Amino acid sequence: MNSRRVAGYGARLQTDRNRRGIQMKKYRAGVIGATGMVGQRFVSLIDAHPWFDLAAVAASGRSAGKTYSQAVSGRWMMPASVPESAESLTVLDATADAAAIAGSVDFVFSAVDMKKEEIKALEENYARLECPVISNNSAHRLTPDVPMIIPEINPDHSKIIVDQRKRLGTERGFIAVKSNCSIQSYVPAFHPLKDNFGLDRALVCTYQAISGAGKTFETWPEMADNVIPYIGGEEEKSEQEPLKVWGRIENGMIVPAELPAITSQCIRVSATDGHMAAVFMAFRDKPEVEEIKRLWREFKGRPQELDLPSAPKQFLHYFEDDTRPQTRLDRMLENGMAISIGRLRPDTQYDYKFVCLSHNTLRGAAGGAVLLAELLCAEAYI
Ligand code: NAP
Repeated sequence: MNSRRVAGYGARLQTDRNRRGIQMKKYRAGVIGATGMVGQRFVSLIDAHPWFDLAAVAASGRSAGKTYSQAVSGRWMMPASVPESAESLTVLDATADAAAIAGSVDFVFSAVDMKKEEIKALEENYARLECPVISNNSAHRLTPDVPMIIPEINPDHSKIIVDQRKRLGTERGFIAVKSNCSIQSYVPAFHPLKDNFGLDRALVCTYQAISGAGKTFETWPEMADNVIPYIGGEEEKSEQEPLKVWGRIENGMIVPAELPAITSQCIRVSATDGHMAAVFMAFRDKPEVEEIKRLWREFKGRPQELDLPSAPKQFLHYFEDDTRPQTRLDRMLENGMAISIGRLRPDTQYDYKFVCLSHNTLRGAAGGAVLLAELLCAEAYI
C-alpha cells in the first residue's frame, strides 16, 4: 500500500461509517502476544469491533502451531468465551513469522511479556517491515520519537510519526504506544486543570488490581485477603510517563514537560480489575471546587469530537456520593473506557485531594490501545 492510498483510507472509512447500509472495508489487525491477559482482551475487542477484523494471532514458540483455542485452553481469562473469529486461527511465532504476519495485516497490537531489549527489537522489526505497531508494552515508552498517546489528552503527538518514519526509513511502519495503566485515572483528571490553574505538585497513591500483573485469584492465590506494598518499576512510570504525555515536540523529539512534579506509591490490592488512585494536588492559582467539577464535566477530547467507536461519551464522571467510585461498581463505566472521580475536597498540605478509578485492562491496556488505533486510522497514519 503506498502512502498516498494510505493517507485517504482513514478519512474514507470515517465517511463510510456515517453512510448507513454501505459495506465498509475493514482494517486487518494482528495481535502479538495474543494468548496473554492483555492479548485476550485485544482478541475479544477486535471480534466486536466495527472497523477491525482479526487477521493474525502470534505469541511465543510455546504456542506457535496450535490453534488459538488450544493455545489458550485452561488459561482463558475473559468473561465471554473465546470469540469464533479467533478459535481456529493458527497461532504464529511472533519472531520467526514476523514477515508473514506483517504482510497479512494493516497493523498489529503488541502485548508481550519479554525482556525490554527483546520487545524493542521485535517492535522495531515490525515497523521496519512496514507494519504499524500499537503497543501496550513499556519498552518504547521513553523512546523520544515514539508517541505515547492518551487519545483525549495528547492526540497531536501523532505528528512525531513523520520523524520516526524518517529514522526507521519506512513509508507506513511506525510504533505508537499507550501509557502505563497506573496513570490513566489521574492524568485525565489533572488534564483540564493543569494549564488553567498551573498544577505544580501532585502526590499519588495507587491501589492496583491483580489483573495488572496478568494474574487472577486462581493463578495468584496468595493475593486473596492481601495487600503487597511493591510493584516493580511502577512508581517511576507513574511519575515520569505523565510528563512525556504532556511534553512538546521539538526537533523530531518529544521533550517532557517540567511540571507537575509527581511523587507516588503504588500498591497491589486484592481486586480483580480496576486501579484506584488517591490523589493530592497543589496549584499556582487555586481554583474553586465547583470550577474543577465543571471542567471535569465539560471536558471532551479528540475521540469524542471524532465519535470514535471506543470513545466514552462522557470521559470524566464525577460522583457526589462519598462512597464512590468503587472498583466493582464503577470500573465498567462506559465499557471500561471512562474515568470515575469522587471525594474532591480541600486538603491541609495540598490544595485539594480526591480519588479516581480506571479499568486497567480496558482503558489502561487493550481498550486504550484500540482507541489509539482508531485515532490513528481516522487521522490516516494507519
Ligand atoms: P501475560 O498474560 O503474561 O502474556 C504474555 C504474552 O507474551 C503471551 O501471549 C506470551 O505467549 C507472549 N510471549 C512471551 N514470551 C514471548 C516471546 N519470546 N515471543 C513472543 N511472545 C511471547 O502478560 P500480560 O499481562 O498480557 O502483559 C503483556 C504486556 O502488557 C506486558 O508488557 C505488560 O507489562 C503490559 N501491560 C499489562 C497490563 C495488564 O493490565 N495486564 C496493563 C498494561 C500493560 P505464550 O502464551 O506463548 O507464552
